[in-house]
Amino acid sequence: MVGKTKTDLTWQEIEIGGIVPTPGNAAEYKTGDWRSIRPVWDRNRCVKCGICYVFCPDAAIYEDDEGYFEADLFYCKGCGICAHECPTQAIAMVEEEE
Ligand code: SF4
Ligand code: SF4
Repeated sequence: MVGKTKTDLTWQEIEIGGIVPTPGNAAEYKTGDWRSIRPVWDRNRCVKCGICYVFCPDAAIYEDDEGYFEADLFYCKGCGICAHECPTQAIAMVEEEE
């Protein structure tokens, strides 16, 4: 394909869309770039139940050495599900700064 422009490609040469060509490659993608709001934890309200961890659809929440939870902002998309599910309202969603 060297030297060909996009318009020179035939349909047989175009990469197939809508598939994951390499299984297990999601860890390489910084999906947190899409986020406009982020979760912020209030440790004074957290009872360490782990519900936020269980409900995060991106598996972006991890438990720290003290048993509290945090979001890995590399992956967190800011959906707010963790804040919605937290039984003690220990998570607030705050706007990302520009
Ligand atoms: S759901 Fe709320 S109380 Fe439970 S671990 Fe997460 S932040 Fe703490
Ligand atoms: S905002 Fe959504 S993606 Fe981010 S940590 Fe909470 S549940 Fe996970």
